[in-house]
Amino acid sequence: MSEGAVKKEEKPRKFQAIRGTRDLLPPETALWNRVEQTAHEVFGTFGFGEIRIPIFEPTELFARSIGEETDVVSKEMYTFVDRLEKLPDPPTLGDYGAFIEQAEKLMATEELPSVPGNRLAIERMKRIWDRGNVFGTEGESPIEKIDSAVLEELYKMVVLKDSMELGQSISLRPEATASVCRAYIEHNMQQLPQPVKLYYMGPMFRRERPQKGRYRQFYQIGAEVLGGSDAPAIDAEVIEMVMTFFDRLELQGVQLDINSIGCRECRPKYVELLRAELLKVKDKLGPDSQRRIETNPLRVLDSKLESEQGIIATLPRIADHLCEDCAAHYAAVKRQLEMRGVIYRENWRLVRGLDYYMRTTFEITAQGLGSQNAVCGGGRYDGLVELLGGPPTKGIGFAIGEDRLVLSLTHHKPVPQRRAIDVVLAWLSPAAYTKAVDIARNLRREGIYVELPAKLMRAGDAVRYADRIGAFFTLMIGEDELKSGELTLKHMLRQEQIKITETSLVDHIKKRRELKEAQ
Ligand code: AMP
Repeated sequence: MSEGAVKKEEKPRKFQAIRGTRDLLPPETALWNRVEQTAHEVFGTFGFGEIRIPIFEPTELFARSIGEETDVVSKEMYTFVDRLEKLPDPPTLGDYGAFIEQAEKLMATEELPSVPGNRLAIERMKRIWDRGNVFGTEGESPIEKIDSAVLEELYKMVVLKDSMELGQSISLRPEATASVCRAYIEHNMQQLPQPVKLYYMGPMFRRERPQKGRYRQFYQIGAEVLGGSDAPAIDAEVIEMVMTFFDRLELQGVQLDINSIGCRECRPKYVELLRAELLKVKDKLGPDSQRRIETNPLRVLDSKLESEQGIIATLPRIADHLCEDCAAHYAAVKRQLEMRGVIYRENWRLVRGLDYYMRTTFEITAQGLGSQNAVCGGGRYDGLVELLGGPPTKGIGFAIGEDRLVLSLTHHKPVPQRRAIDVVLAWLSPAAYTKAVDIARNLRREGIYVELPAKLMRAGDAVRYADRIGAFFTLMIGEDELKSGELTLKHMLRQEQIKITETSLVDHIKKRRELKEAQ
């Protein structure tokens, strides 16, 4: 038995999708496509262009932008070391000069991780090398003839070379904002007319505890506005765009919450005030909140614990502690939303615990989602591009959870049925097959949905098959049809059968289909 073959009595293992991931199947995928198509259309009308970013990035990008302390970065990322195939050996026994040069080049392109250990190794190798090319070349000096001092130097070089970390730590993206900002910097988009308006859609990965509406591979549709000003009109238009999108999809029970969390000037003062007030009631809070008094008091406001709600209601509110500029910005955003007919609710407890977020934050919830009812979260992050090594840049964006969006859409409206096949095209004799393939091609070119059975069928079987898959018509070609040039078309619902020429076939099918769709 060849290796890998399975013993007769052993059943091969059945595989299942990994926990927290899932297959999206037809007909539901048609709804996903409709959602995505609507996003392309609506975002396009607001002047946004699509960006496609990689699924994985250097871990450092997420650590720096989202924050080392957050759950997402500290616990939930799928991180692994991407191994370099091999660091090229010195071309000849002693030619570490070329090796050092190569290693430095790889480090510059991040192919070799630029970690302190590697930098130190190269530095030390250089020092040894700079003492003079003591090794000679492989051909000249057989190893046993090299003197012990040189051998020692060589040995040091080998140890240093082997101590180098070859892999770069990379992570599957847990969100896309960091990547979009990275791309903005990498492609010098600050030189384009500002602001740059980009949207994206695709899978994200977080090792969260799976439950309804929460997956480990989930999909987001998001947009970012980068550069230009931080005019309140931009915040309002971004929010208006999401609401327009949801409206176009007829999402039910949409609730928009907004807040302002101030800036680097006023927020720290508020956070201190909040911390002081929380310390006074510390004993009445649960362990999570108690811990957060120190680490991130704003997160206490997120608490869903029933017993803490009464206490939280009495805490100072950030809206009362905004600096003049932030207060004016927030007031203007609200005015702008009203002007655009966007209905919102102010929610002073809506905070984002990450340092780079500032001023406007918002969240949108929808029907039928249970406890995971947020379909969209967003906010302003004026410091982020700079934090990632770019120029000072204003920024605002949002991310919609597509899984939850689809879940909510199907909650009040069943998943649309699979688009029915128009025609089962049965060939009743081997000689008719070529003709059938030909007709199928012509019909499909006209946008007609054709099922061409792979095997010869009898007329009765073809009709039964068409009935089972819910086709509108059975089209039959046999010896008689080939001779007469007229095809047999059976209308499945009416149970009537006609003879039809190939030229009038397309019109006839399309007309019937329209009639059916209009019903
Ligand atoms: P965030 O990037 O955490 O602000 O999330 C933005 C939106 O993505 C949320 O409002 C959710 O709709 C969605 N989302 C976040 N995490 C998950 C997840 N694990 N599974 C499904 N959807 C998620």
